Amino acid sequence: ENMGFPGPLKRHGIVVCVRKRPLNRKELAERELDVISMPRADMLVAHAPRRHVNLVRFLENHNFRFDYTFDEACSNATVYNYTARPLIRHIFDGGMATCFAYGQTGSGKTHTMGGEFTGKQQNVMDGIYAMAATDVFSTLAEPANAGLGLRVTCSFFEIYGSRIYDLLTPGRAQLRVLEDSHQQVQVVGLTERPARCTTDVLSLLEQGNCARTSGHTSANCKSSRSHAIFQIVLRSANTYRLHGKLSLIDLAGNERGADNSSADRRTRLEGAEINKSLLVLKECIRALGRQSGHIPFRGCKLTQVLRDSFIGKKVKTCMIATISPGLRCVEHTLNTLRYADRVK
Ligand code: ADP
Ligand code: MG
Repeated sequence: ENMGFPGPLKRHGIVVCVRKRPLNRKELAERELDVISMPRADMLVAHAPRRHVNLVRFLENHNFRFDYTFDEACSNATVYNYTARPLIRHIFDGGMATCFAYGQTGSGKTHTMGGEFTGKQQNVMDGIYAMAATDVFSTLAEPANAGLGLRVTCSFFEIYGSRIYDLLTPGRAQLRVLEDSHQQVQVVGLTERPARCTTDVLSLLEQGNCARTSGHTSANCKSSRSHAIFQIVLRSANTYRLHGKLSLIDLAGNERGADNSSADRRTRLEGAEINKSLLVLKECIRALGRQSGHIPFRGCKLTQVLRDSFIGKKVKTCMIATISPGLRCVEHTLNTLRYADRVK
């Protein structure tokens, strides 16, 4: 199973990896150049055109090192094994865990998470959502965990601009965030549905995905402008006390943050909000990695609602940066790689 992957670099529970998707049919037809190579399971080289040279365009190498680099031959199962899978044990140990998919629209965030339901039913079991749910229920069934008396619930919501929408209520209810006197952040009224098996989880995901896309005119365009947060929560069956939580997050397309040229004011404001949330997220993960006291989670809605996954001793975070292989995307790809490099 090792497949030549090294162990993760030791960094206080943060794992940062990069996944490259294959060239798609359109790119192949247009003979698009693949400018990303992964010479080792923890190294990546991007061959980007050198700027400021207008006569001879030549490619310049940019080298990066990450915990893991997954090339186009890697399956979702392999990505899962090195990213979200180790987090399952952690939440049973009473920890909080987060796994982010970060990258340009079309680079494979949703493909990796397995959040695309309409018309692609057969692929759902192959996504991180379903694989994580399956492992949660098999871990729950282990004799050693029977005594914990835990039950599983799920939440699914999206952050769109600075608004939060519950994806498990009919009509996509808008929710508010409150911080109580114990500084516990609450998404007021967020639905938590009990789940007894993977099938239960999948039907909740399907319901949420329908809500996510039906509120919008063009599904992919709009979903790339929102962060989708799916949570698997372990609670004590008797007291309902929180035991552990896994948040799986399909982030807004990072190129949307730079969307400030649109004629539509609302689109520009949304772009600014996305940009801010991704910057604050980066600072929060960096602060977590440095184990410095101050984590600026109040900076945006996304990190605010994830407060308990940043604060505390038992927190683990994993980032999967997804990239396109093509020359035409290389500027966006470099932005993604630099972001991931800063997080690590
Ligand atoms: P994003 O969510 O980042 O916008 P998607 O996950 O929707 O991107 O991926 C865009 C397209 O590329 C989809 O058709 C998806 O099936 C395909 N794709 C993405 N990653 C892979 C991969 N690793 N292998 C095969 N196809 C992929
Ligand atoms: Mg997507």
